[in-house]
Amino acid sequence: METKKKDIRALTKEQLRDFFVAQGDKAFRGNQVYEWLWQKSAHSFEAMTNISKETRQMLKDNFVINHIRVDQMQRSSDGTIKNAVRLHDGLVVESVLIPTETRTTACVSSQVGCSLDCRFCATARLKRMRNLNPDEIYDQVVAIDNESRLYFDRPLSNIVFMGMGEPLMNYNNVLQAIDKITSPEGLGMSPKRITLSTSGVPKMIRKMADEEVKFKLAVSLHSAIDEVRTSIMPFNATFPLKDLREALEYWYSKTKNRITYEYVVWQGINDTQEAVDALVKFCKFAPSKVNLIEYNPIDDGEFQQASEVAIKMYQDTLERNGITVTVRRSRGKDIDAACGQLANKQ
Ligand code: SAH
Repeated sequence: METKKKDIRALTKEQLRDFFVAQGDKAFRGNQVYEWLWQKSAHSFEAMTNISKETRQMLKDNFVINHIRVDQMQRSSDGTIKNAVRLHDGLVVESVLIPTETRTTACVSSQVGCSLDCRFCATARLKRMRNLNPDEIYDQVVAIDNESRLYFDRPLSNIVFMGMGEPLMNYNNVLQAIDKITSPEGLGMSPKRITLSTSGVPKMIRKMADEEVKFKLAVSLHSAIDEVRTSIMPFNATFPLKDLREALEYWYSKTKNRITYEYVVWQGINDTQEAVDALVKFCKFAPSKVNLIEYNPIDDGEFQQASEVAIKMYQDTLERNGITVTVRRSRGKDIDAACGQLANKQ
């Protein structure tokens, strides 16, 4: 039965080489197949044209390639593209291509659904079904790279882990995917062009720091006051700001990579001087910058974007304190492709 066969991309290069040796073939054959699977992103064994027919059949008898399928592609009036990605078991995640004048950014998912319960996020309303495998993350990137070449005549330039799911709750698979994306045997992208966005899992931030990863870190902060943060991101009760802050200080001491704080200002929640002051204080623990994100409403209207005046207050106060701040406009809102809107709605 197809489903019983192992996904060949779950094997490391060494395991693949060993497999061929065990079959009485050359280890080198493993390299060739590995190249087809990753660098050339083959969808089938038939595509491996420099491998003999018999060997391809033997692979087919033993393995499957669980490639993702882009089921539906939606294009926004601003050029943003959203892919509904079907996985081999029928589940669906979304990824987004965000074009600017000079860049194409892929926003990829790391889990089907999400186990966190951020009250302002549409994905949080989907139950976490499972983690994505490294190849399923990798395939999303390849699909967007292909679309970027096709529609914008240039390769993908950046990747953000800001799609569905909490990447640090799927740590091993996300790091393995990044390894493949950055390896010359995969896509050969620079880790500096990759940003992992997390709600902040202190233990995992420390682990990344210990592994001296080279990609960038963004933290969805939204409030630097525990009570407020817990009220909008309930898991903050488990991972309070003090633990997060210490983990981030450790991150900086190890990587010397400054941190980006993602922050939405909402009416009646964090649009006060007290909230800004707490943020300024938080930013001083480790070199960082603040990205003020526009709120993308999700259905019920419980949350509302703060006034321009409040946002200006944030900008001015941060700048006065020497903290870099950018205001990010949403992209792809008309197709529910913006931050926090990914919920398999189509
Ligand atoms: N779980 C990860 C990555 C996914 S969310 C994380 O929390 O960082 C990507 C970003 O979108 C996060 O900063 C998140 O807080 C933000 N976000 C979620 N819902 C949003 C919404 N409705 N409007 C604007 N940003 C939102």
